[in-house]
Amino acid sequence: MSQLAERIAQFRKMAADDPDNELGHFRLGQLLAEDGQHAEAAKSFERTLEISPEFSKAFQLLGESLLKAGQRDKAVEVLTRGYTVADERGDRLPKEAMGKLLKELGAPVPQPAATAADDGPGTGFRCQRPGCMEGKRAKPLPAPPLPDDDGVRIQQTICSACWNLWFKDLSIKVINELRLDLSSEFGQQEYDRHMREFLGFEDQPNK
Ligand SMILES: [Zn+2]
Repeated sequence: MSQLAERIAQFRKMAADDPDNELGHFRLGQLLAEDGQHAEAAKSFERTLEISPEFSKAFQLLGESLLKAGQRDKAVEVLTRGYTVADERGDRLPKEAMGKLLKELGAPVPQPAATAADDGPGTGFRCQRPGCMEGKRAKPLPAPPLPDDDGVRIQQTICSACWNLWFKDLSIKVINELRLDLSSEFGQQEYDRHMREFLGFEDQPNK
């Protein structure tokens, strides 16, 4: 079995064993898309959005998968809705990506909502994790949660709610589901990889 097929199998199992974990469905969708299984990927992103309806990046990827699966009209509908969600939440990158796709498809790009969402009191901190639900309420951690570069990056870009979601909940599920042995180098690397994926640090190559 190829490495990709193996990871798809891992995440299929995780999505089946823990069906309300949006992270599992989201990653499964990304892996299926990577494997060219666009109709299957779309199903995983749809499930992600049922659990987490404000996950703007999932709208973007669902729209892309639907397009590649030849479902243009449905893609336009999803991207239009996703654009509005991303706009309201202030998720700049997914919003720009969906706006660009809508333009390429010749579909109207929704008018941004009144900028009221950007005014008013807030913490002034923006969490950069795709799928963060905190918006203006996002608060940074008081100190880096890890004693390395990732820890510094987390404190600068990830809100405390997202970190706690990972640290107190999802990380434990990942360890259990994937039976990671954290005393081994392999287990530690896998753990770090899942943590980075959850936090949206995929652009950072593994050291
Ligand atoms: Zn957050």
